[in-house]
Amino acid sequence: MDTKFIFVTGGVSSSLGKGIFCASLGRLLESHGLRVSIQKLDPYINVDPGTMNPYEHGEVFVTHDGAETDLDLGHYERFLGHKTSQANNVTTGRVYQEVIEKERAGQYLGKTVQVVPHIIDEIKAWIVRLSETQQLDVIISEIGGTVGDIESLPYLEAIRQLRYEMGSANALVTHLTLIPYLAAAGELKTKPTQHSVKMLLSYGLQPDLLVCRSERPLHSELREKIAHFCNVETRAVIEAADAKSIYDVPLQLAQQGVQKLILEQFQITDQSIPSEPDLKEWTQFVKRLHAPEKRVRIALVGKYVTHQDAYKSITESFILAGAKTSVDIELHYVESGDITEDNCEAVLQDVKGILVAPGFGSRGIEGKITTARFARVHNIPFLGICLGLQCAMISFARDCCGLEEAHSTEFCADSPWPVIDLMEDQKKIDNKGGTMRLGAYDCKIAQDSQAYLIYNQPLVTERHRHRYEVNNAIRHHLENQGLKFSGINPESGLVEIAELPSHPWYIGVQFHPEYRSTVGNPHPLFTSFVTAAASR
Ligand code: GLN
Repeated sequence: MDTKFIFVTGGVSSSLGKGIFCASLGRLLESHGLRVSIQKLDPYINVDPGTMNPYEHGEVFVTHDGAETDLDLGHYERFLGHKTSQANNVTTGRVYQEVIEKERAGQYLGKTVQVVPHIIDEIKAWIVRLSETQQLDVIISEIGGTVGDIESLPYLEAIRQLRYEMGSANALVTHLTLIPYLAAAGELKTKPTQHSVKMLLSYGLQPDLLVCRSERPLHSELREKIAHFCNVETRAVIEAADAKSIYDVPLQLAQQGVQKLILEQFQITDQSIPSEPDLKEWTQFVKRLHAPEKRVRIALVGKYVTHQDAYKSITESFILAGAKTSVDIELHYVESGDITEDNCEAVLQDVKGILVAPGFGSRGIEGKITTARFARVHNIPFLGICLGLQCAMISFARDCCGLEEAHSTEFCADSPWPVIDLMEDQKKIDNKGGTMRLGAYDCKIAQDSQAYLIYNQPLVTERHRHRYEVNNAIRHHLENQGLKFSGINPESGLVEIAELPSHPWYIGVQFHPEYRSTVGNPHPLFTSFVTAAASR
């Protein structure tokens, strides 16, 4: 079977949940035994989101191969359970960079390099490339932004051309739109959707499937009206009502038979493909998710807590670990800059676990160090991720090793005790984009450690995104006072995991376990942490 393509556009408004829709559709098609990959096409000029502030863009998701990508890739991995890569996230910046590099190399010699055809051709090549490197039945390509945005135009032209070249049996266009409810009129309104589809038509794209976000159910007359004015079959008008959780969406779509419509259009009638989706495990997971036996309050201490997407993979990792352990986790978001020695106890007194989040820059750093100390002294389960681990090391060095001026050189360049320092190969780097220690590195786990009990494996691979490290020249001061470095990278000798054996659950990790949690496989560090917090 040739790879089939589903192009997903969005209309009327941003934040309709295109990423969740794509992830859910992907899951649904996989439950028919198809091999699916999902790709995000982002129209901004940054080569990748790695240089953007989380307030601008939300979390940066890091893939196994070390690409800094859009947070939607996190949803794709969590829903589908398999890895994405650099090829799953394309940006206008990356497309232009490649075209300009080719121009400089003389590959277009004699020609004027233009948006049409050169940029469009590059976008098309990126979309198709995924199918050249992997055996895939379906590729879902999510076009970022909203139809009508100037910057999305080349992407719409690229999918128009691909759809024309491939034909409707191989390429399908989906439009995710909003049907607002006007309380004053007491009605759901279809006009914005009609306009949005007209705009899409003006670019030469007729949607095959209309997915309608709405706060209220779409009654049959309304569906017929939408179908009639937007030129789609009535059964291709899909309702996407607000769901109890994002993990309910694949089931919502399955109930409406979206997968059948798609299989029909793609003429996938192969007997080897089950006619009904196998969503048994998914349904059980959703049931567990909605019927927790316990509730536990855990603090998430970070400096981007007011942005709901800044710690997406962490918050979803908690949800997935909670479903596995039957615990409902109430996250108490704490702005690290607000924490002081004086108010720490009052702010954190009713939490059963504390997570200190990753981050960059000095704002809120003393609050994180104070929090790590508070969890250590009060025996509260503590998970420090990346900067969270670094803060725990600073607090331990200051309090327990007599190194009062211990710090990270990220915040205090001339600290006499740089317990966290820049890696040697980072010292020569000036460029900020894509130059951190990124992606998967091995971590060898000491057999007699809590980390070993949690992983039950001697060697694991985890994803990274950092420049600074535990300083191996100072490490022995911490070890002498009872800290255990239970995870080490075998090639470089760099610290990956630190733990405190005298504490019930105190673990810091230099890597990001949150990037590896999936629905089928919540990360063991999160499940263990949640279990420890829930049993207090
Ligand atoms: N700023 C720290 C470093 O670069 C931590 C990074 C992080 O938390 N992802 O090492």
